[in-house]
Amino acid sequence: MTQEPEVWILRLGHRVFRDKRITTHLALVGRAFGASGIYIEGDADPKIKEKVDEINKTWGGEFTVNFVSNWINFVKKWKKEEGTVVHLTMYGLPFEDVINLIKDEKKKVLVIVGGKKVPRVAYEVADYNLAVTNQPHSEVAAIALFLDRYFEGKEPLHKNPKIKIVPTPRGKFVISRTL
Ligand code: SAM
Repeated sequence: MTQEPEVWILRLGHRVFRDKRITTHLALVGRAFGASGIYIEGDADPKIKEKVDEINKTWGGEFTVNFVSNWINFVKKWKKEEGTVVHLTMYGLPFEDVINLIKDEKKKVLVIVGGKKVPRVAYEVADYNLAVTNQPHSEVAAIALFLDRYFEGKEPLHKNPKIKIVPTPRGKFVISRTL
């Protein structure tokens, strides 16, 4: 289990038809790489929460899916009451140069990732605008790399799983908890 403060994700501009898969992947990647939960701004989409809750039940942990309407107020409140705000963008500073500074603050972190078009205010309200390379790619890759570096490659402990993989060089070895 990592000792670092919690990291949460804020996903901007979710569109129910176009982004269902990618926002679900963002949540699943966030969960697997140690984030505590995701806040989703945009269309209300209960299916994403259902999917992630199902994964939690089987694979353990309490990764949380929440929806926010006024994300700017949410971010301002986070800065006042919770901790640091990072915005991942290809226009930012190299994340690997700044991540230790963020870790040294020992505060909770909210990581904003965009969808199609990110409003300018996201760049202004963030404490740090960070790039995972200065090339355009994907919010899923950006969050994976950020979390991996933040938690120094340690896999989080997902409590109370029903099933667990035993790593094997070949084939599939899974153990199930008997209820
Ligand atoms: N042109 C869009 C914009 O306004 O920034 C990029 C949209 S991109 C498909 C979706 C999200 O992926 C971005 O908002 C950002 O959070 C993340 N992203 C993409 N490339 C990135 C990079 N090189 N570094 C950090 N984040 C990146």
